[in-house]
Amino acid sequence: MSAPHLTPVKSETPDLEALLLAQKKAYLADPMPDRAARVRRLDKLHNALIDNKARIIAAVSKDFSNRSAAETELAEIMPLLDGIAFYRKRLRKFMKPQRRHAPLTLMPASIQVQYQPVGVVGIVVPWNFPIFLALSPLVGALAAGNRAMLKSSEFAPASGDLLKEIIADIFSEDEVTVVAGGVEVATEFTKLPFDHLVFTGSTQVGKIVMKAAADNLTPVTLELGGKSPVIIHKDFPIDEAASRIAFGKGINAGQVCVSPDYILCPRDKVNAFCTAFADSMSKAYPALRDNQDYTAIITDRQKTRLEGYLKDAEAKGAELITINPKGEHFNDTRKMPMTLILGATEEMLVLREEIFGPILPVIPYDSIDEAVAYVNDRPRPLAFYYFDWDKSRANDILARTHAGGACINDTMSHVMADDIPFGGIGPSGMGHYHGEEGFRNFSKAKGVVRKGRINATAFVAPPWDNFMFNSLKKLQAMRFRRRNIQE
Ligand code: NAD
Repeated sequence: MSAPHLTPVKSETPDLEALLLAQKKAYLADPMPDRAARVRRLDKLHNALIDNKARIIAAVSKDFSNRSAAETELAEIMPLLDGIAFYRKRLRKFMKPQRRHAPLTLMPASIQVQYQPVGVVGIVVPWNFPIFLALSPLVGALAAGNRAMLKSSEFAPASGDLLKEIIADIFSEDEVTVVAGGVEVATEFTKLPFDHLVFTGSTQVGKIVMKAAADNLTPVTLELGGKSPVIIHKDFPIDEAASRIAFGKGINAGQVCVSPDYILCPRDKVNAFCTAFADSMSKAYPALRDNQDYTAIITDRQKTRLEGYLKDAEAKGAELITINPKGEHFNDTRKMPMTLILGATEEMLVLREEIFGPILPVIPYDSIDEAVAYVNDRPRPLAFYYFDWDKSRANDILARTHAGGACINDTMSHVMADDIPFGGIGPSGMGHYHGEEGFRNFSKAKGVVRKGRINATAFVAPPWDNFMFNSLKKLQAMRFRRRNIQE
């Protein structure tokens, strides 16, 4: 926690500085909240989620013009309640200082790592899960004893307003606060000297945010995007793979950072995959236009972007398979049917850009090594999915590929597992939240050496040519001989 001396930030929203200053002061007045205080904060959030469930579902749906209520419950509210319960149960263990090894040269001494709250955490929120992606990092930050300022997404204003109201109801402004606003506010927000900054959003904006944070040397957790691949092994039943992938890709109409972005499918199974995928989608969503289970696209701009990808692919010779069981039209709605793409090439936007919507290219491969090479030739993704019953082969593929997280024989479910870290690698992000790693991410691991009344240093102090120091040197020389290197 740095001292609360803030460089003035030129801003149309000057209260950002005042908010941060108030939080930093409040933090210094209560720098190490005990377990009970942290549990109290988590419990307030837990109750607010339960009490406001219907309002959250309604607000998110308003932002999307239709978001499936089940998806909001499953992917925003349930994992938050689980995440809170996870930390609540393990706080005592995570907060406990850890005893560490004392080297001979320091004995006698007690050596510890203490996990100290960093202070005030800034959290920048995207639009696609406007409640979960605001509160999930917050849960980790609060569990670790911090205060937090959140910047909600300008593209999910109803959710942002509700979030602000809920947070103001249960926390004081110097404990947790939400600010709304567009790029200008976001820009000023990310320039603030937070003690840690969590940014969830695109890789492109992530670079800008990291540069802004660098001016303050603020550590960042970047939760970014990218193209998350799926590889289906030739021995895996293709219908089963298609139905599991359809479930994941259907959620939020593909507007998920870990949504399957493209499928690497054995060449002779591509047609069977497309048929089975279309069947699964049609069973899950027999109609689209007025079906409240099928989520719409967040804004006209995003819909235009996705339609642009389809036009681009078609113009460059790809085959489009639109899954529209009732043959409906979507011109006057933000709904968009799921479309499979065959024959995609590297010149097409669908293979160059993150899709983030209901479009799924299916790319044939001839050997598993070729599929792995395809993934490894591209930027390291946020998620990687592999379908294969053979455990040792799956472990081999995991060892040969990099990704933020992975599922074997499933998609996206690793986000719901509270006990594992969530975060990207390279262009898909850095740092983690969730699990023990999340708690550590929002804590300073402070190494502490504590000496007692016996001070062995006194015996090995200068003048150096003394008996104790010479004995120490001899002992070390006996302990550390040159090793034979085994090639
Ligand atoms: P975005 O990068 O456009 O915006 C995210 C946030 O950044 C918003 O709050 C916005 O106000 C703010 N912002 C915009 N410009 C900024 C700037 N110049 N400086 C500082 N802040 C700025 O992303 P989005 O469209 O809201 O979300 C979609 C992207 O987010 C996709 O790429 C997706 O993969 C990614 N994403 C990642 C995760 C994850 O957990 N890794 C989760 C959801 C979404």
